[in-house]
Amino acid sequence: MQIAERCVATFHYTLTDDAGAVIDSSAGREPLAYLHGAGNIVPGLERALTGRTVGDSFTVDVLPEEGYGVRHEGLIQVVPRSAFQGVDTLEVGMQFQANSNQGPMSVVIAAISGDEVTVDGNHPLAGQTLHFAVEITEVRDATDEEAEHGHVHGAHGHEH
Ligand code: ZN
Repeated sequence: MQIAERCVATFHYTLTDDAGAVIDSSAGREPLAYLHGAGNIVPGLERALTGRTVGDSFTVDVLPEEGYGVRHEGLIQVVPRSAFQGVDTLEVGMQFQANSNQGPMSVVIAAISGDEVTVDGNHPLAGQTLHFAVEITEVRDATDEEAEHGHVHGAHGHEH
């Protein structure tokens, strides 16, 4: 069967950046299962999977707009070190939950200079073109419950 709305598709993937460096891969792990049409994965990849069947292998380049979004300079802020009360050691790359006008958001420390800490609320992959190599291993109909919940249940899916 072909991947379409209300299908659960399972696939192996390797994600590389523009330089060919591997960002993420399912190699050596369980493949990823997702509910098609539910926004479980980035839009550009979901679109490229539409109509594929088990055994299909392909590569797709996903632009930032169809991936994790473009970078917004407004999500980069400089805050005083005192904003991190209770944290003993601050290091570049540390992740925190911060409160913003749009509610809680995840930020990463991008730089530290004296008392000034630069935090970046962009997704780590924002602004990047994503290069996926994909191999589809299973396609099945979603159960009514999965379609209702908007995610996959069972092996490699939600447990609840
Ligand atoms: Zn569920």
